[in-house]
Amino acid sequence: VKANGRGHFRIFDPDMEAQTSNYRRIRQELGEASAKNEFELYFQPMVDLADGEISGFEALLRWRHPREGLLAPGSFLPVAEKAGLVNDIGRWVLMEACALAAALPRPMRVCVNLSPTQLEQPGFALEVAHALASSGLAPRRLELEITESSFLAEGAITSACLHEIRALGVTIALDDFGTGYSALSHLRAFPVDRIKIDKSFVQEAVTRPETASIVRTIIELAHDLNMKTTGEGVETEAQLRLLRRAGCDEIQGYLVSRPQPIGTFLAKSGRTREP
Ligand code: C2E
Ligand code: CA
Ligand code: CA
Ligand code: CA
Repeated sequence: VKANGRGHFRIFDPDMEAQTSNYRRIRQELGEASAKNEFELYFQPMVDLADGEISGFEALLRWRHPREGLLAPGSFLPVAEKAGLVNDIGRWVLMEACALAAALPRPMRVCVNLSPTQLEQPGFALEVAHALASSGLAPRRLELEITESSFLAEGAITSACLHEIRALGVTIALDDFGTGYSALSHLRAFPVDRIKIDKSFVQEAVTRPETASIVRTIIELAHDLNMKTTGEGVETEAQLRLLRRAGCDEIQGYLVSRPQPIGTFLAKSGRTREP
């Protein structure tokens, strides 16, 4: 979790009592943030290791708070979740990401993170269809990132729900793979197009042979199951080399770029250096 570096982070502690005035104030501010246009999307590129080109961007939510500055989701999403605001925020993210992606000069994939409660909404697929229709984004350009916690939550999603979304032509990525309550049975039970290997594995793999072996196995398994792989949190050339040797399809991480406003990428040329 990122603090804002000015010691104000504690006010966003999700564990704070729901009754405290602090919590009520943040909840109130979060509820108004949308109408005040305080949410922004930052984008982080993914690079295709086959040709070294940017293949897509992941949309990452930011809150430009009037007093606290630019906040990363770790500092406010848990509160939004608890306050029941996450579906509304998620709807905005989906619409905004599709609109921005549809306006890119070169067609590229845009990846949108979903919270489990969004997926649990009846008719969520209709919401996705609406975002596609109103932005004009081609469905194959949209990828939705879900975590395995969606399979375990109380109103747990079913594979039918994912099939419904995929029937639109949208793809599904399994985010943070390998962390939390990870299970290989999920790969059998749920239709998934991509596995995103969590950064903790990527970063540890260069120093621990056991972890490197797990990473290689995940990639091989994904390919056997006709899935693509993205290595997350790539910060060093050594991590890149390891993933490339393991046959990973794509990388994402600070080595390529930190998340930025979309304009930063439009200002540069569409081509990246060969990683
Ligand atoms: P995530 O989906 O795993 O996204 C990747 C996170 O890792 C981002 O943090 C990104 O800035 C960070 N990251 C990328 N490359 C590197 C690297 O090389 N090294 C390190 N140390 N970190 C790297 P961020 O933007 O703070 O987002 C945190 C989490 O918040 C995301 O993790 C995702 O779970 C959630 N999130 C972000 N945007 C949304 C959203 O629109 N909706 C929902 N439901 N969740 C979101
Ligand atoms: Ca390519
Ligand atoms: Ca993600
Ligand atoms: Ca991730």
